[in-house]
Order: sequence, then structure tokens, then C-alpha cells
Amino acid sequence: MKYSKRIIALLLVCVTALAAFAGCSNNTSETKATESTTAESTTAESTTAESKTDGIDYMALVNKTHALPDDWEKKLETIHMKNSIKDDVEVEKKAYDAYLRLKADLEKEDIFVDLDSARRSVAEQQRIMDEFTEEYGADYAAKTVAKPGYSEHHTGLALDLYLIIDGKDVTENEDMIKYTDIWAKIHKLLPNYGFILRYLEGSEHITGYGYEPWHIRYIDNVEVAKEITDKGITFEEYLKTASGNKVEIDYGKSKLYSKDELKEAVVQIKCQFAFYKGLELKSIRYAGDDAATDKKLKQFQKKNPDAKYTKVAEFLMDFSTSSDTSGTTFTPNHDYDEYQWWLAASKDDGWEIVDFGY
Ligand SMILES: [Zn+2]
Repeated sequence: MKYSKRIIALLLVCVTALAAFAGCSNNTSETKATESTTAESTTAESTTAESKTDGIDYMALVNKTHALPDDWEKKLETIHMKNSIKDDVEVEKKAYDAYLRLKADLEKEDIFVDLDSARRSVAEQQRIMDEFTEEYGADYAAKTVAKPGYSEHHTGLALDLYLIIDGKDVTENEDMIKYTDIWAKIHKLLPNYGFILRYLEGSEHITGYGYEPWHIRYIDNVEVAKEITDKGITFEEYLKTASGNKVEIDYGKSKLYSKDELKEAVVQIKCQFAFYKGLELKSIRYAGDDAATDKKLKQFQKKNPDAKYTKVAEFLMDFSTSSDTSGTTFTPNHDYDEYQWWLAASKDDGWEIVDFGY
């Protein structure tokens, strides 16, 4: 398949837009900084380790397919508070502290929120499940109630907010969802306190839940919260990129480039790739010195004479797409093999993606 000129132009717009992200840059020092958070599995591990305390792992993923870690409830430290409707709400200690600071900041903008619910124990969830099963049958219960052990609310780090508008409590989901402007202001402030919005619009296929503007998650890491928010990605997507678990990277053997140079190129590719929704990266490999011909270099020099490219490199990528590739030109549910990425660099600047596709 060959991309038409129009599609390439469109993709290049994406590259330009991407440069605006803090994580993606041609600047070498920034490139290295990016790598420590998103690239190799070894560096990702140390990032995760930093967010761990002796107690709980604030970056733990709990969703419909990832259960609450076994020893969680033993390690968890919580506080109890009473909300404006006199319900008892239990929250993890640090998350509550961060919530209070968020709340105070929101009040400066005349936005008033309270906590509807936060922690629910596995036992409590089981009780709800049993009640529903008895009353409505097992099928209905399984569809409506989160499986005990698989609700993020078990962590104590997931908070459901409600709004107080003109002194009145607005607690029903269908009422709350109408206040889009207020939610937008709240969501903007979340990362400053180490929170992220968990169930994004249009991400049901990833999170397993529809849009919930009130459900926020504390991750105890302002920088990561900002990265997730800026990129507009889900926690699941962030963790997948950060761990790089299944991604195979093969730098091959090169007489032209050092491994560090090739690593920097791969960071650029990963960064670009992370920009697209619904894709799963499987492997990236250096296409070899033979691909880096003078002819290719001249082609990119001609395309962008100002950049003064002196070197060129090709990488091949295998990836697959999910059922939702909206916003991209990729075919849903498809395996892409040997997808090509071309990068070029001048003497003074880092690698730049100059072409990709078949
Ligand atoms: Zn919730």
C-alpha cells in the first residue's frame, strides 16, 4: 500500500503537532529524558519503583482484567470523612490530602465539590454482588456490578466527586454530566495534585467503562499525571508504553551509528507512535546500514533543504490495531508488518522522523 501525497501531508501535520508534546522532541537532552520514562523496560521499572512506598504502589492498575494486589488491604492506610450529605466516605490517606488541596484550589474559582464515594472493600463489593444476584439473578448482577477484587474503588485511590451548585448537592450522574464547563475546569487542575481522569470519553474499549467525569484516580506523581493528561491517554495506555513489556527492540549491527544514536531514533519513533489511538506496538528493528543509502539521504535533503541532513536511518516496525482507530488512517483489527520509518538528522540536531508508511 502506498500513501497518497495527501495522506503523507496529513501524517506530517501529526508529526508537527506532536513536537508540541513535552515528551517528543528532537533536542538530544530532552530525548534522553523521554527515554527514562517511556522507553526501555529497565528504566521504566525504576520509574515505577520511585512511586512505590513501603506500603501500596500508587501506580497499581486495577480494572476489569487486573485484580487488586493480594496484600493491598493489609497495607492500605485510610481516613474516614463525612460528606455534605452525611455519608461516611473512606479514602486512602495521601489521596485525601491531595483531594483537600484540589478542593481548596477549586473553591478559588467558585467551584464546589465533595466526595460521593471512594474506597469500597472487596468484602463490601461481594455483599453488593450477592444482593444483586439474589434480587435480579446472576446474569444481571454480573453485568451491573464490578466483580469483587476488580474495582478501582478497592484501592482507596479512586474518588467519585459530586458537585455543589448554588449550595445544592448535585449527586445524580445524569444531572452532573450536564456541567461540562465545570468538569473541564476540574479536569484541568487534577494533575497538579497527582490525580488523573480515569474513564475518558471514547475510551470504553480500553478502560471498560463509559465516560465518567467524576471518577478521578490518585497516582501520587504530578509529573506522570501531567504527562497522561497532556497526551489525553488512559492510564492503561500510559502503563503499556511505560513498561514496554512486550515490545521487542532490535538495534542490529551498525558501522554507521552507535547504539545510543539508534536508541535516540527509536525514542522518536515510539513517541510518534504513542500519539495514535488504538495501536499496539510489537517490535521495532533497525533496517541495517544497507538501507541508509546516499540516494535516500539526497531524497530527504531535497525535501527539506533547510534541515541540512547528514545522515539517514530506516527502522521496521510490527504493530497491530484495535477495533477503534478513529483519528488515524489505519485499518481496524489489522496486523501491520515491516512498516517503515525513516529518520534523518543533521550534524547538530537529533533525529527527526521524515517519512513513514509503506
Ligand atoms: Zn467511581
